[in-house]
Amino acid sequence: MPPRTRAKGATVIAVANQKGGVAKTTSVASLGAAFAELGKRVLLVDLDPQACLTFSLGVDPEGVEGSMHDVLTGRLPLADILLECADGVDLAPSSIDLAGTEAVLLARPGREFILGNALAEQAKNYDIILLDCSPSLGVLTLGALTAASGLIIPMPCEMLGHRGVGQLLDTVRDVKKILNKKLTVLGVLPTMFDSRSGHQQEVLADVGERYGLPVLTPPIPRTVRFAEAPAVGRSILETARKSKGAAAYRAVAKDVLTRI
Ligand code: ADP
Ligand code: MG
Repeated sequence: MPPRTRAKGATVIAVANQKGGVAKTTSVASLGAAFAELGKRVLLVDLDPQACLTFSLGVDPEGVEGSMHDVLTGRLPLADILLECADGVDLAPSSIDLAGTEAVLLARPGREFILGNALAEQAKNYDIILLDCSPSLGVLTLGALTAASGLIIPMPCEMLGHRGVGQLLDTVRDVKKILNKKLTVLGVLPTMFDSRSGHQQEVLADVGERYGLPVLTPPIPRTVRFAEAPAVGRSILETARKSKGAAAYRAVAKDVLTRI
């Protein structure tokens, strides 16, 4: 039988918000596992020197032979650092070296395009590539926004009221103008939703209008299960298969597929 061919390569989605602790990494791990359950070939890329995604997939960032630092500085091809993980996803790991990558790249012309070029080498091997960004709008995040066709902005429900994505959206506008015309905001993803809070329910009701952006649904509930999952190197979709949190990420994954 001839090998299955695909007309187009992987869809690259950046998960970014310059604030820390908004559930970027949790969303990448959980959506990745959810896409894999749906039969998609998934690559997760850890672009945060803190390596929380790498750690949460059961990989010790200090023990990896190569990381995204080696790829972005041209020392190794992406294929050489990929690791097969539980949850049916592949990982391009981070390591502490990534803290020095921006300094190296600052001297390189075209630095925003290096990540996209590296991902293109693997695009035919995956359906979806998710980029876990660090909490900054530095060179690595600009590279992610340049490589991606879609952006997901996780935002805790208690922060939704503050309209705190202005700076990120300014950056998105600049990236679209100068670096990557095809970047689209797939949506704001409300996280850590407390359904007992009347205020959060009110804020959720008009969040689309307030931000002028699509809103991915359903909101991800706040649950202690998310704190437990990384400690065993699996996402909540494995450690708490039937939890509300896992169900919410599965539903959001389906919502995302309708938008790409
Ligand atoms: P970021 O990558 O944006 O810094 P993380 O995904 O690391 O954020 O999440 C920050 C913290 O919040 C982690 O301890 C994580 O376990 C916890 N967390 C994430 N999502 C939820 C949730 N829905 N309910 C409760 N805790 C959560
Ligand atoms: Mg993170």
